[in-house]
Amino acid sequence: MSENVSSLLYIVAGVLFIMALRGLSHPTTSRQGNLYGMIGMALAVLTTLVGHPPAGLGAWILVLLGLGIGGGAGAVIAKRVPMTAMPQLVAAFHSLVGLAAVAGAAATLYAPQAVGILENGHIHKESLFEMALGAAIGAITFTGSVIAFAKLDGRMSGKPIMLPQRHAINIALGIALVVLIAVFIGNESKLVFWLIVLLSFTLGGLLIIPIGGADMPVVVSMLNSYSGWAAAGIGFTLGNLALIITGSLVGSSGAILSYIMCKAMNRSFISVILGGFGGDSAAAAGGDQVETRPVKQGSADDAAYIMKNAERVIIVPGYGMAVAQAQHSLREMVDLLKKEGVEVKYAIHPVAGRMPGHMNVLLAEANVPYDEVFELEDINGEFPQADVAFVIGANDVTNPAAKTDKASPIYGMPILDVEKAKTVLFIKRGMGSGYAGVENEVFFRDNTMMLFGDAKKVVDSIVKNL
Ligand code: NAP
Repeated sequence: MSENVSSLLYIVAGVLFIMALRGLSHPTTSRQGNLYGMIGMALAVLTTLVGHPPAGLGAWILVLLGLGIGGGAGAVIAKRVPMTAMPQLVAAFHSLVGLAAVAGAAATLYAPQAVGILENGHIHKESLFEMALGAAIGAITFTGSVIAFAKLDGRMSGKPIMLPQRHAINIALGIALVVLIAVFIGNESKLVFWLIVLLSFTLGGLLIIPIGGADMPVVVSMLNSYSGWAAAGIGFTLGNLALIITGSLVGSSGAILSYIMCKAMNRSFISVILGGFGGDSAAAAGGDQVETRPVKQGSADDAAYIMKNAERVIIVPGYGMAVAQAQHSLREMVDLLKKEGVEVKYAIHPVAGRMPGHMNVLLAEANVPYDEVFELEDINGEFPQADVAFVIGANDVTNPAAKTDKASPIYGMPILDVEKAKTVLFIKRGMGSGYAGVENEVFFRDNTMMLFGDAKKVVDSIVKNL
């Protein structure tokens, strides 16, 4: 296949990736978007295999084994993973993208003749730069994603872990990294290359360790962006158009998503990129004290009665709805309320659940009409007119401490003003705190009624009572 034909096919794959991103921006078109992405990826892989066929049977076997094992494992894991574990799966997959970038850079360094970057026995300076940068970003992405995975999967505490002098250590490591990259470009030393990788592995871990659980969605999306830039860097070294296009798309879309989430959570983008945001105060935030104040408790019967007699109900879903898989029962409950003439809307917080769009996906799965689902900024003003705020498995996203308590790890995050509704119904299993580990004052308000139990079971019995 000529270079021109493969370039053309890579551009077609790039266009398919752009169409995939476009499709993924809305639940109605997301399946189609996924399909475009899969076709684009298949085209890119085939073009690479046909354009630069592996040399010999052994190489073919290695490539096919890689595709088979990687693709097979990916398909099985993706099929088995529950929706609630999706964020950690994404973090785990990103770590592999980072590792692939390191492996790609190392392979290029050890066999530069294979990709034609040699001149008079030396590797082009710009290729050395791209290689070092790709390996560094890839290594940072690898350890950063592994830590994000461990925190999201509960294998490591979600609370921020603050090392003393962490900013000074990170700055020193950053400077050392720049110096090593400069030395590597000068002397092509393999030892210096591995030192760059080692330093970057360390930096990746140190950057993510101080970040608290509540800020993790931004981190996952930011690491996604890093992995894209690492791939694009290696794409330049290998002269591979598909890698450059794909890496840039992943890099820029991840950066845009991080920016949008930072805005939604009222965080500074720069401090996220530098790591350790969530503030030093976050470490001191409570969460371990045992709460003894009384709360008002109600039954499914009470909830059914209150909602049946309401005019406006706003539903606020959160992580607990996903755990209980209560979305179908919820939809059934809402259908019954609508039959009674109650106006029902859904309010979605940008970081409700454990990944961006988590609640939208679940509600879409239960065939909730899109025009009943509203984003925070479009519905927050309506809580004072609502008779009932029905909070199902949400906690942090309703916590007013985000507005008032500067020491809280969620301080600055916009919240859904559920406490402004006439009655607030909270479905949760007990008095457990949310992801950020902080107490929610709304539980103790006079207009709040707690409905203790698994979200699906409680909603099912409300349905019966309705
Ligand atoms: P949350 O603050 O984590 O609270 C979820 C609540 O659901 C818990 O308090 C828990 O209380 C309850 N729950 C758990 N299982 C339940 C079940 N089976 N039935 C009923 N209730 C159940 O959730 P959120 O309000 O959705 O807020 C999301 C949090 O996750 C934010 O802090 C956000 O920053 C963070 N986060 C978001 C993302 C993202 O991208 N969306 C990613 C990572 C982290 P009980 O234990 O008492 O039942």
